[in-house]
Amino acid sequence: MVFNILTLFPDIFTGFFSESIIRRAVEAKIVHFNVINIRDYSQDKHKKVDDYPFGGGRGMLFAPDPVFRAIESISERGRVLYPSPKGALLKQPKVRDLARCRILTIICGHYEGIDNRIVENLVDEEVSIGDYILTGGELAAAVIVDSITRELDGSLGNEGSRLEESFDDSGLLEYEQYTRPAEYRGQSVPQVLLSGDHEEIRKWRIKRRLIKTLEKRPELLDEVTVPEDYKKILNEIIKRRGPNERNK
Ligand code: SAM
Repeated sequence: MVFNILTLFPDIFTGFFSESIIRRAVEAKIVHFNVINIRDYSQDKHKKVDDYPFGGGRGMLFAPDPVFRAIESISERGRVLYPSPKGALLKQPKVRDLARCRILTIICGHYEGIDNRIVENLVDEEVSIGDYILTGGELAAAVIVDSITRELDGSLGNEGSRLEESFDDSGLLEYEQYTRPAEYRGQSVPQVLLSGDHEEIRKWRIKRRLIKTLEKRPELLDEVTVPEDYKKILNEIIKRRGPNERNK
């Protein structure tokens, strides 16, 4: 998959691309990054890329011309994303959807944002990574790239890791995990995990996923279709804990 990333700060991505899973995905040619410095496309003699907002107001905006020129320099853009707090919140189904693209182009905003003609003419989708304001789109672009890359076949050492984790097809949070030692500072791991009884472990994990989701993100249960074999366990948990549990 090709990621074209338009930014004023290409160096922000250097460390990110050269470590861990992303580095391995680059080496395995699962992903390719084409980082474009928007400033290189400024026609201004001082390479200026920003200007004052019409109508007044604080701060500066990306002027349209350098961004239009930078985008027009790309032979194949694919889907064009603009990380922005005004976009739809990035969730796992959207990540999976984007992972099906062959090419993605991401425009990293800066300053107080970008001239809206860029959004109207060049952007297919605005994507927010959360309800807070970042100084620039680079970290948001890194989040988008990272979440997509781990969805691509061959990117994870163990492809099974994607099967049972938070926001997988069930939409639930993950169960608690433990590793050795079985006892640490007086705390033991749940006995069932040491039992070797795979069916009991499976049931315990389903139950813990449901309880974790009920306790921490109950609204998720309204957004997902809980698998049939989970439903019975969920109803038992709710019955035991009282009818208001789902709405807590
Ligand atoms: N004035 C803008 C507003 O109120 O919506 C915020 C501009 S922000 C300081 C600068 C850039 O950071 C934005 O153009 C965008 O690319 C990026 N950004 C900030 N918060 C973000 C978020 N929650 N998700 C994705 N990108 C974000």
